[in-house]
Amino acid sequence: MVLSRINGSEELFVGGIFGVTRPRLITEHKITHVLSVIKYSLDSLQNEAYRSLQHMSIDIDDMDDQDILVHLPKMVRFIQRGLYGHDYTEEKQQQQQEQQEQQQQQQQQEEEEEGAAKGAVLVHCAMGKSRSVTAIVAYLLWKHPHRFGLGKGAVDAKEAVAKAVQWVRGTRPIAEPNEGFMEQLELWVEMGCPAGSDDAVEKEAKYQRWLYKKEVETAAAVGRAPDWIRFEDEEAEKEQQKQDEEGGGGAFELRCKKCRRRLATEPFVVPHQGRGNKAKEDCPHYFVEALSWMRDTLELGELEGRLNCPHPKCGSSVGRYSWRGFKCSCGDWVAPAFSLQQSKVDKVAVMGAGKNGTAGANEIASRMAALGIRMPPGQRAENL
Ligand SMILES: [Zn+2]
Ligand SMILES: [Zn+2]
Repeated sequence: MVLSRINGSEELFVGGIFGVTRPRLITEHKITHVLSVIKYSLDSLQNEAYRSLQHMSIDIDDMDDQDILVHLPKMVRFIQRGLYGHDYTEEKQQQQQEQQEQQQQQQQQEEEEEGAAKGAVLVHCAMGKSRSVTAIVAYLLWKHPHRFGLGKGAVDAKEAVAKAVQWVRGTRPIAEPNEGFMEQLELWVEMGCPAGSDDAVEKEAKYQRWLYKKEVETAAAVGRAPDWIRFEDEEAEKEQQKQDEEGGGGAFELRCKKCRRRLATEPFVVPHQGRGNKAKEDCPHYFVEALSWMRDTLELGELEGRLNCPHPKCGSSVGRYSWRGFKCSCGDWVAPAFSLQQSKVDKVAVMGAGKNGTAGANEIASRMAALGIRMPPGQRAENL
């Protein structure tokens, strides 16, 4: 099978290299747009059939560790433009609005939209198996979410992706995105298939976290520190993510035993030994995320080292870190590991914790102020 038409009323085709090099097929299927999910040029194809084709080429290898996710919005928008010839963002907004208003009429609405299709799009890679199928599955999930059970909360991302791949297999039995691409398609769904702009995925916090995790793992595997570091407290401040997810700054914070400088609040403590449990009381370490006070140390680019209290007048050793991770004496492996030694920090309960860690500290400061404890001028609450 050289070219396979995807089920549905859209003129959407998938194929390998041989699907695109045959002018007869291009003419026969009235192909107007070609998306190459491979480095490819149509210039060498000297035939009238290719003269007026719209073409996009995405240079990517069929490897688990390749980032295809970041290209999905561009590809989805190209397919949409090819099939419907009008603005995708506008349509998606319209669609979403209508979805809210009249959920039961979705099916009917979809058929009307499909009736308006005017172009024909061929998506190809080398084999028509992994890369091109990934682009098509991303498109189908974005365009027809309810077809795969999304939007009703009936399925999770994994199931929805599996269903969409199955849909493609209906006419292309060899369809099989590689494992890394399957995982990225799930992330695509979890992010809500963001195709509002070409860089829509790049703007997603979830994507940035995924990218960072990849960077840390890749770097640690070859024994080096990552090229860039995310300081989770700063990220949280930017996104207010933790706040939304957890609805608070946590019940406790960890402070330097010597100078009382706040080192971490509960949302930034990494649970280990049975996820979701608080760090076991007999564990000698608290593992935390990379936090902005570690910047000077971490940006030295070492694979591992000590963590010292950031208070300029203190600087006492409070723990250690390793990008490769290390084993807590409870037996849990944590990677990357930023550990605060239990004997060097105090776990302080935060009563009436504010919206986030900062608010929690401010509250403590204001309570101290209420008790008549004054802070030295110019000193911020976190430096108590
Ligand atoms: Zn200190
Ligand atoms: Zn432990």
